[in-house]
Amino acid sequence: MRQALTDAAPEAPQLSGEETADICIVGGGYTGLWTALRINELEPSARVIVLDAVLAGSGASGRNGGFAMTFWHHFLALERACGQAEALRLARTSAEAVSSIGDFCREHGIDSGFRADGWLWTATNRAQIGAWAKTVEALERSGETPFAPLAPAEVAARAGSERHLAGVFEAGAATVQPAVLARGLRRVALERGIEIFERSPMVGLERTPVLGVRTPHGRVRARGVVIAMNAWAASLKELRGRFVTIASDVVLTEPAPDRLEAAGLRNGISISDSRLMVHYYRPTSDGRLAFGKGGGNLAYGSRVGESFNGPSPRAAAVAAHMYELEPALAGVPLAASWVGPIDRSIDGLPFFTTLGRPDLIAGLGFSGNGVGPSVLGGRILASMALEREDQWSRCGLVRPPPRGLPPEPLRYLGGRIVRAAVARRERAEDAGRNPTWIDRRLTALAPPGLVPVD
Ligand SMILES: Cc1cc2nc3c(=O)[nH]c(=O)nc-3n(C[C@H](O)[C@H](O)[C@H](O)COP(=O)(O)OP(=O)(O)OC[C@H]3O[C@@H](n4cnc5c(N)ncnc54)[C@H](O)[C@@H]3O)c2cc1C
Repeated sequence: MRQALTDAAPEAPQLSGEETADICIVGGGYTGLWTALRINELEPSARVIVLDAVLAGSGASGRNGGFAMTFWHHFLALERACGQAEALRLARTSAEAVSSIGDFCREHGIDSGFRADGWLWTATNRAQIGAWAKTVEALERSGETPFAPLAPAEVAARAGSERHLAGVFEAGAATVQPAVLARGLRRVALERGIEIFERSPMVGLERTPVLGVRTPHGRVRARGVVIAMNAWAASLKELRGRFVTIASDVVLTEPAPDRLEAAGLRNGISISDSRLMVHYYRPTSDGRLAFGKGGGNLAYGSRVGESFNGPSPRAAAVAAHMYELEPALAGVPLAASWVGPIDRSIDGLPFFTTLGRPDLIAGLGFSGNGVGPSVLGGRILASMALEREDQWSRCGLVRPPPRGLPPEPLRYLGGRIVRAAVARRERAEDAGRNPTWIDRRLTALAPPGLVPVD
């Protein structure tokens, strides 16, 4: 997970001067790269240019927790957004998308450590027990059973700790070394003739009859532009108010394979609990534990500032949660920590939309579940960019950005108040106390995480 951006591929140049493309993709993370690859598959002769402000893969795609998840846990939100039939279709397709990452890595020799060993969705305090029940029941009513119920002892055994009191298991989820996957996608894109320019941020978007993307030293004019910038898309006026940028923090231990094995934590499994400021973790192939926590800090105006890059300022607090949840790791030192931005939409689902004209398209709002779903994002954005009428361009996630977030400064100030209430509620629940009425009410205003908020 700490591995540098390595997958052997030539340096990508900085954009300099004028270029013309069929499609210009702004942002070289999973979303941008899957989109580029899909366009290349559908129209091999199309000239595709990808611009990244830093390096392709240096955003959330290169530094996430490595959980490649489906949409099954978001089924209720999907049903609300696009109806039962489409929710089922998207969730099923999201499961195929996870497997397709493994196929892609095998086919292209990407050593991403992809393992489809499943995801444990657990409760780490009594208040969380059954957090999955409504989702599981709705799925059962629809004839789907992606979550297997487990006895509490089995949950604790698979999670390597008795702090996990109950849970369900989804076999379709996988884990992956995120940066290796991102750099592998970049290499394959270059091999296929997709042009990537790095250290080439979009600094201006010319909304002229033929769109133009300006960078400090050049410009790309294109018949279609795809914004795949994750939370950095807050620089566009249409998107700024449509999501909240919130930090997620990860700590990584030094190798401790014997401790992990003694605890029963097997490489390949991924584990999340059911709090809003979610704890998520997985053992890595080199015997470390990668442990993340959601809900770090909020960005004013959703803009990604410097506090969303580099080592985590909350590493000590995140590590304290890790040692508490996995006592077997007591004393194992940290090797690294980092932070990154989450583009959280109000309903916890991504959206794919045109921005006032059919040739200007954006896809974001993955809300912390983008590793698997960005494969679908690539198919959707490619179909939209090529103006194809198909199951992707017509799918239920092609929609205006969901509304409901207040404007600034209310979004930031309100967000901080809600975040503090969530933290108080979760501390109370961890201590076995009832949260206050006001904290319950305030918590209900937070965009949903894994658990639908009532
Ligand atoms: C700490 C952390 C842990 C996470 N854990 C998980 C997980 O375990 N499982 C999961 O499914 N999801 C997880 N996520 C979310 C997941 O990483 C993202 O949803 C996914 O990587 C989104 O990919 P993307 O391509 O949309 O965004 P990114 O990978 O962030 O790509 C956006 C790109 O845009 C570039 N950019 C920014 N501004 C400009 C500009 N002006 N011009 C050009 N380029 C620009 C950036 O440099 C960046 O490379 C996590 C995220 C974080 C931050």
